[in-house]
Amino acid sequence: MMDLNLSVEKLKNVGARNLPRLHKLGIKTLRDLLWHLPARYDDYSQIVPIADLALDQKATIQGTVVKIDSRRIFPRRLVIIEAIIEDDSGSIKAVWFNQPYIATTLTEGTRVSLAGAIKLDKRGLYLASPSYEKLHQDDYLAYHLTHTHGLIPTYPETEGVTSKYLRFLIKPILSELNIPDHLSEESRTRNGLIGLTTALQKIHYPLTLAEADQARERLAFDDLLLFQIKALLERRKINQLKSPAIPFDKELVTDLIKHLPFELTKDQKISAWEILKDLGRSYPMNRLMEGDVGSGKTVVALIAAVQAAKAGYQTVFMAPTEVLACQHMETIRNLIAHTNIEVGLLTSSTAWTTYSLGKKTEIKNRIARGDTKIIIGTHALIQKDVAFDKLALVVIDEQHRFGVNQRAALIKHSSSELVPHLLSMTATPIPRTLALTIYGDLDISIIKEKPKNRQKIITRIVPPSGRQEAHQFIRSEVKAGRQVFVICPRIELAVQTPDNAEQSTRGKAKSQMKFLLADMKAVQEEYKKLSELVFPDLKVAMLHGKMKPKEKNEIMSRFKEGFADILVSTSVIEVGIDIPNATIMMIENADHFGLAQLHQFRGRIGRGEHQSTCLLFTSGAEKTSNQRLKALVATDDGFLLAEKDMAIRGPGEFFGTGQSGLPDLAMAALANVELIKKSRAEARLILTEDQNLTKHPELKQQLLRFQSIIHFE
Ligand code: ADP
Ligand code: MG
Repeated sequence: MMDLNLSVEKLKNVGARNLPRLHKLGIKTLRDLLWHLPARYDDYSQIVPIADLALDQKATIQGTVVKIDSRRIFPRRLVIIEAIIEDDSGSIKAVWFNQPYIATTLTEGTRVSLAGAIKLDKRGLYLASPSYEKLHQDDYLAYHLTHTHGLIPTYPETEGVTSKYLRFLIKPILSELNIPDHLSEESRTRNGLIGLTTALQKIHYPLTLAEADQARERLAFDDLLLFQIKALLERRKINQLKSPAIPFDKELVTDLIKHLPFELTKDQKISAWEILKDLGRSYPMNRLMEGDVGSGKTVVALIAAVQAAKAGYQTVFMAPTEVLACQHMETIRNLIAHTNIEVGLLTSSTAWTTYSLGKKTEIKNRIARGDTKIIIGTHALIQKDVAFDKLALVVIDEQHRFGVNQRAALIKHSSSELVPHLLSMTATPIPRTLALTIYGDLDISIIKEKPKNRQKIITRIVPPSGRQEAHQFIRSEVKAGRQVFVICPRIELAVQTPDNAEQSTRGKAKSQMKFLLADMKAVQEEYKKLSELVFPDLKVAMLHGKMKPKEKNEIMSRFKEGFADILVSTSVIEVGIDIPNATIMMIENADHFGLAQLHQFRGRIGRGEHQSTCLLFTSGAEKTSNQRLKALVATDDGFLLAEKDMAIRGPGEFFGTGQSGLPDLAMAALANVELIKKSRAEARLILTEDQNLTKHPELKQQLLRFQSIIHFE
């Protein structure tokens, strides 16, 4: 049995020089090497008779070296090797530069296999710097030479580590590969998967592309399975914790709903019910509520918060920005004005409760004493320095994931020993099966239905020729009393960042700075253009990332009060803001944004009684972006758009690898819903039969390895 943990150092062909280079590619052990998967394959599966070769073709030929010479060209000190290769059909020249040893390797009479591109010079067709390997009598017809015949793998490379070198390392190991398979025979049959050894052999050296796919599927399944097992174990851990059980109070909830200024949608009701049921249990809720922008997630969370408050417990709402925190404060205060529940807002610039605008320390004291039952603030602030009395529920807005550690940190701040329930809310609509994979340890509530009073937003693509007309339209809307958002993409600034920017804090600060500068510059330019040239007669305001939060807040709230007609910003207003009088969303260079983001922008409008319009300004006619923009015009269903976005960009881009912690292979497999389902079922089965994976030692070891590369945040 081979030891997959064997250091690559111990391999025959790895020397001191190559070791650090392999490490740079993340290859430290035999396992790393075997799981360093090809990025693509070059198809050298046909051996072409020399007489049939054509210009620019990539081909493999096999024949005999009939002549080989090396000559030196001055003054460039170039060594040229020229060989004539002959097969039954004819002969051709092969040319290499600066590889003098070839002349001594491929001596006259040697039988060789050559793969490369066919080029043309004055004297006819020739093979330009082909890969080569010697043929021995018996493997003349053998499949899979290492470099020149079959589907030849090309790997992610780094300086000094070429695909050729990797093939040279990997190929010999494959033929004697002998490793345990952590999936049992039954499990493989059940899921239609090939064995691990075969999968590794075939992913590196497939005979056909279909074989490569089969191998990839098996390896992706492994990653998905481990991810699911990890999620289930995580959940098991959480279920063993103790939380305050807050019983469902029918009278209270009915009364609250009766006092709402609108009727809840069916999805809102279902979600509220799911959450209230979770609250009634004595172990922590771990739930994600997904709902498109404007679907009304806040009020659903509020119902839970009110029930907690009436039972004597506190709830904290965490928003990503101050503006959103303020908005939550306002919404919540209005919706529960008829109750005597104390609500408090805590941001870096303000602190107040429903009853007083006080000093921060006073408000914090009220929170610590338990007087304030619902606390609203930014993620950063709340996590840093707020002490609670009896915290029962944490609501997190616009953040997909809230870590176990973050939750633990909050518990430390509470005088109660009990773990708070957790509700995350996101406006990024992820189809349920995918969400179950990415967030396998969470329960999921989905709000698909929009409130009835919502207007349909008109969406238009505006090419350069349509600008003037669009500006005219904007002007007439403003004259009718409406307001306009203008979004422009960040201008990329060419600021030199140090090599290891991500690692050093200085680098981090610097790239953050770069980001803010780019933000500011873009907004200032657009502001200047609109206020001086396009709309000199209207009031234009701007908002950019370099402004202090306080300043941003002020501009936002003054815009809400109507002090400006047009607000120019970059994506800083992306999430959550609610200004019913704003009816136009104009997006400059809309083709520079992703589909999901555009949909978020559009969600900023259409919140009031007036007809709203989203104008997508484009500069040209790039194809994929047009595809995106057209999808946006065609539908306002966020879930549908998310699926399209994923289809256009691929799951990796869509989720961002860092975000999910899923390895690339599993990420790519996210489009394969069947495979996800299978891996989920298998994970459950394995854990039901074998709680602590004692009967699955290989799997357990894999899991430990897997966990070390997964971010537990
Ligand atoms: P999001 O899901 O984007 O966070 P919000 O919770 O901010 O949405 O709700 C957007 C607006 O819609 C708020 O002003 C809220 O009071 C209102 N709203 C919520 N639910 C309904 C409903 N069922 N009918 C009408 N308006 C609603
Ligand atoms: Mg919201």
